[in-house]
Amino acid sequence: MSRFLHVVAVPEAVATAVGMAPDPVTEDIPADHAPGRVLCADVIAGEDIPGFDRSIVDGFAVRAEDTAGSSESVPALLRCAGRVAMGHAAAGFSVANGGCVYIPTGGVLPKGANAVVMVENTEETGDMVLVKRPVSYGENILLHDDDYRRGAVVLPAGRRLSPRDAGVLAACGRTSVIVSKKPVVGIISTGNELVPVTATPGPGQVRDANASMLAAYLREYGCTPKFYGIVPDEHEAFETVISRALPECDVLLLSGGSSKDDRDMTARVVAGRGEVLVHGIAIAPGKPTIIGRIDGKPVFGLPGHPASAFVVFIVIVCPLLDRMLGQTKALLHTTRATLGDNIPSQKGREEYFRVRLVNGTAQPVFGKAGLLNTLVASDGLVRIPSGCEGLELGSEVDVILW
Ligand code: AMP
Ligand code: MG
Repeated sequence: MSRFLHVVAVPEAVATAVGMAPDPVTEDIPADHAPGRVLCADVIAGEDIPGFDRSIVDGFAVRAEDTAGSSESVPALLRCAGRVAMGHAAAGFSVANGGCVYIPTGGVLPKGANAVVMVENTEETGDMVLVKRPVSYGENILLHDDDYRRGAVVLPAGRRLSPRDAGVLAACGRTSVIVSKKPVVGIISTGNELVPVTATPGPGQVRDANASMLAAYLREYGCTPKFYGIVPDEHEAFETVISRALPECDVLLLSGGSSKDDRDMTARVVAGRGEVLVHGIAIAPGKPTIIGRIDGKPVFGLPGHPASAFVVFIVIVCPLLDRMLGQTKALLHTTRATLGDNIPSQKGREEYFRVRLVNGTAQPVFGKAGLLNTLVASDGLVRIPSGCEGLELGSEVDVILW
């Protein structure tokens, strides 16, 4: 008996998956460990940054008006009142009419000055300085709150932190940040023909590629993958592993078991322990996908072909993970490209076609289902909407980079 009860469109499948997401669980971690993690609370500037008006060049702090009209042939002549020392307030110095003060990059701007002339545009003769180029008001100066004003949002909640952000956190005096905990995602491969990576496949056998592929991507995505090995196409064995994995994981990914008989088994096991919410998605590749819930936890039955499993993972599972991580912007990047060939597609299903990018052209990677080489040969996917019978050579497309 087929349990392909009702094939749903991709947006409905995504909404079903995302609808199961528990709220992000937070934890406090050292700021320099935060890159790759998703921020769960805004980071607010506790003070103005940089906190004092400073020079952004080596030169002379001046009053801009004193340099007006100066040039190489007719320089302005200013009297130097001293030198600003790094790391100290410029107390004791001020720039008066016709005066200037030497200031290094990052030095505190002395009172009275409103611009800095680069040292390259000056010449020192004794305690006099020739200025050979005029500067405008505020030139070469960073004001005390130019970077961040006290109370400003420096990094918003929902942002996936980068190594650059770690530097900004340090500049803000933050040693720790509140991020979402990494969801633990259990990976179970099913199929009588599957053997571990370390085995030499016998006739009819294939190595388990999906578990490694999914785990690698999950790690990159900021989750913790957990392997539960290969399970034969047997109801009881499958149920036993699922029962063991459930309490240890936040999400379960089952791959394989998408041929009709197998699928029935996966669906029966999920239905027996919980509920099947979606059974078949109008997506290619990846139609025979199951979305279910057991003990309140999302469970996915992904198709066995590695490329299909990966497409479904990206299109359906990643939005759920985004929600669990509290991430506001999808991690996947897209780029515009011109299609280098026609791609035929069937109306009524959303198709994700593998393409290779060559100098701004998206070249379709044609190949039979089940090939691994198309995964390596492609740079990403072009989405063909369900109401579309294909895309024509020369059309502008978004390429989802993977
Ligand atoms: P299934 O979805 O179980 O019908 O499997 C479809 C195809 O994917 C079959 O050729 C399987 O051998 C293959 N397959 C299933 N699981 C995996 C896996 N974990 N790694 C590599 N190939 C797989
Ligand atoms: Mg199978």
